[in-house]
Amino acid sequence: MEKPGVPCDQDAGKSSIVRSLHSINSQHFNMAPLVIPRSEHPISRKMIDEEALKVLYRLHRHGFSAYLVGGSVRDLLLGKIPKDFDVATNAHPHEITLLFKNSRIIGRRFRLVQVFFKERKMVEVSTFRSHSEFEETIDEDGKIIRTDSFGTPEEDALRRDITINGLFYNIADFSIIDYIGGMADLKQRVIRTIGHPNERFQQDPVRMIRVIRHAARTGFVIEDKTFQAIIRHREEIRRCSSSRVRDEFSRDLKEGAAQPSLELMLRTHLLFSLFPDLLRVFADRNPLNKQDETFFLSLFGLVDQLVKMGRTVPESILYSLLLTPLLKSATPEHPFLGERQRYIYSMQTIRLLIQQVFTPFSIPKGLKEMTSQILMAQWNLRKSINRGMISKGLRTKKYFREGVLLLGILAQAKGERVPRLLRNVVPSDLLPWWPKDFRRPRRSGRFSSSMKR
Ligand code: ATP
Ligand code: MG
Repeated sequence: MEKPGVPCDQDAGKSSIVRSLHSINSQHFNMAPLVIPRSEHPISRKMIDEEALKVLYRLHRHGFSAYLVGGSVRDLLLGKIPKDFDVATNAHPHEITLLFKNSRIIGRRFRLVQVFFKERKMVEVSTFRSHSEFEETIDEDGKIIRTDSFGTPEEDALRRDITINGLFYNIADFSIIDYIGGMADLKQRVIRTIGHPNERFQQDPVRMIRVIRHAARTGFVIEDKTFQAIIRHREEIRRCSSSRVRDEFSRDLKEGAAQPSLELMLRTHLLFSLFPDLLRVFADRNPLNKQDETFFLSLFGLVDQLVKMGRTVPESILYSLLLTPLLKSATPEHPFLGERQRYIYSMQTIRLLIQQVFTPFSIPKGLKEMTSQILMAQWNLRKSINRGMISKGLRTKKYFREGVLLLGILAQAKGERVPRLLRNVVPSDLLPWWPKDFRRPRRSGRFSSSMKR
């Protein structure tokens, strides 16, 4: 699935890009922006990161336009603390680097400038662009056509993905500039693509994942035309670079809104375009479909709880949970199979599924290996629980802690109690749901079966 070079749609020629941007301009937006003065919006300079303010002011003092853009403006308007503060300007990259000694130009297709501060803080400054880097194209020899395509502020707003991500905060007069109707959509709690969703998803299908993530995170409703366009264009996600798809999808799982994201992916069937194997489990004709779906989503609901408590949930756990519906349906239940045969069969199934499901996304080998180890460890952990002791060999394995974490999440979702035996061998804060009142093991190395619940 990996297509290095062009992130998406090698066939989309430049002329079609230019045409579609023109059509966005002329059909939908050819109008003066809405300017919301400082007195009519809640963003104050105190809310903006100190270093980002320094960058904005220095650009402004040297006669350039300087806007705070993208997710930071959206988050500030929603009363959230932004993850990062991006700046857009009409200064060109080399002009920006002249203003900031501690800066460097990066980017192959589109150059932007990173300005560095103390404690490894960094602010990204980009020159206004006329189109998204993900709509860039290649020449006949397969080389990327390097056009920075600098643009106007209006074009820079129009090339963005959804309306609530296209607002600018202008340091010159502290106003908000809205070319795309983002303020109205924020008020009405709507996620809508900038321009026609059919066109915008065809240009860059990864935007479908982004629409879903932003809707899941904010709890906003996806506007009907945008929602229908995801259903219509979902298969086109396969045209995209696998690494981009993987990165955007894993943000869905990691950032505290995995459950609502996956729910929307199930409703739009985008999840099946990404992971066709899941269709077998969640297909409408499967009578257990609803039950399996509820369980699957509840697993990610627990992941979201952990993330909101500030815990980092390793990617190997996220990918293991994603595989659980498939593993369940592949568990050997035949009465003639002995334990050893069942074990071998399960291990082979895990390896096979990991290759089948994750290889198309260029998931790093190390991560695939860790995922398979913690899934395989479930067998040994359950066996240890039954035996009433955990061998030192198992406890010292590099995947032990993650294996226990996975077992704990699965147990919590099923409403099972995790035996004290297990809780005693991992740090007490591994899972917040585990009761704190447990006894320390009496001896290291072995645990008597009397400690079993
Ligand atoms: P977050 O808070 O998760 O960082 P964000 O909106 O800032 O959310 P980024 O991935 O950091 O998301 O992207 C920064 C901005 O770049 C977005 O707000 C959006 O305006 C624009 N953008 C990102 N990806 C695309 C895309 N595929 N097509 C068009 N615009 C995009
Ligand atoms: Mg961001």
